[in-house]
Amino acid sequence: MKRLAILGSTGSIGTQALEVVAAHPDLFEVEVLSAHSNDTLLVEQAIKFKPNAVVVTDESKYEAVKAALHAYPVKVFAGLKSLNEVVQWDTVDVVLGAIVGFAGLHSILAAVDAGKYVALANKETLVVAGELVMKRAAEKGSLIVPVDSEHSAIFQCLVGESSRTIEKVILTASGGPFLGKKPNFLVNVKASHALQHPNWTMGAKITIDSATLMNKGLEMIEAKWLFGLQNEQIEVTIHPQSIVHSLVQFNDGSLKAQLGLPDMKLPIQYALAFPHRIHNDFKRFDFKDFPKLNFEAPDYKTFRNLALAKDAMFKGGNAPCVLNAANEVVVHAFLQNKVGFMEMSEMIEQTLEQVNFIEHPTLEDYENSDKEARIRVQELVKKSQLSTY
Ligand code: NDP
Ligand code: MG
Repeated sequence: MKRLAILGSTGSIGTQALEVVAAHPDLFEVEVLSAHSNDTLLVEQAIKFKPNAVVVTDESKYEAVKAALHAYPVKVFAGLKSLNEVVQWDTVDVVLGAIVGFAGLHSILAAVDAGKYVALANKETLVVAGELVMKRAAEKGSLIVPVDSEHSAIFQCLVGESSRTIEKVILTASGGPFLGKKPNFLVNVKASHALQHPNWTMGAKITIDSATLMNKGLEMIEAKWLFGLQNEQIEVTIHPQSIVHSLVQFNDGSLKAQLGLPDMKLPIQYALAFPHRIHNDFKRFDFKDFPKLNFEAPDYKTFRNLALAKDAMFKGGNAPCVLNAANEVVVHAFLQNKVGFMEMSEMIEQTLEQVNFIEHPTLEDYENSDKEARIRVQELVKKSQLSTY
């Protein structure tokens, strides 16, 4: 029986993780749940899954959660600091990091410091501070297993292999809802269009990142740190069907891939159950439904976020942290129709130029770079023609 702390339990990954838990009551039990603003769903989940504790990180929701759970034997905490403490409890075996954005960094670091097994969905943690997180994980004996489907695919391909034999990894990207579109079309797209992803149902932020291809750029950086790769060893290919989840090429020219229908419950289940592979009743792949699988090169010129993220990966230091912060802000603004689709890349690029480069950042440097980038990019957002400030 594994005792889980599910951070971000009210999100897309969090709710699907709870479906996996509900399907395997003999293997998993919930020790901790955390949510930010959705107190109603958190309370429902707590009543159903009976955790030892819940943490509501938006402190203004504390009284409501406490009142709703007063008749139940569950401890209620508020704030991100509490989260850092509960993930370190001895009663937690596995920490699922499914908070979105930079906000997830500190709780993952706390889990790593306690030597926990971490199932990691929150890719921004590795984008921002991958070097530091992986170094600490190695020192503290914390194993980080990816939940992101591409990285889960690579991780599965590497079982039984030595990482020294990797020649390169090829991350697949669906291309999102605007695959093949050009700037003259993209200038006019609105959040409501971009939220229509062809293959996956996900949280709003990652859905926009998929439409701009920033998601794939973030995943290149995520792969670099997870698997200890050189920048040159990471490639991206567009694969619209999302059946091949990623590939590894080895030093003898062999390619291994992991395939399956696009369903995040599969990589979530794999990461929670590892090193075991467990049965489920998910729909199975059938070649009749997918007679053709296509692959093509990404359009770096139109989808500039992918190029910006790749450049930031090569530049290193605090560049990915700045890129991530600027991206979080512009995506938020785009969702509120305050900036245009193509403007997002321009603003991220300008922010990267404005924030001082730090080659070997400390945790404090990352925090400051994140803050500074948010201030700078917010200024740019205010100047956008769409902005209503
Ligand atoms: P959602 O937006 O659906 O959920 C985010 C979760 O984080 C919610 O539980 C939310 O709480 C919580 N949260 C939001 N802001 C904060 C904050 N400031 N402090 C603490 N908690 C916060 O996101 P997803 O589930 O889609 O994504 C989660 C992570 O997983 C992201 O990093 C994403 O890139 C990654 N991922 C997601 C995939 C997917 O299919 N969805 C696939 C691969 C990776 P509340 O709702 O209560 O406010
Ligand atoms: Mg992914």
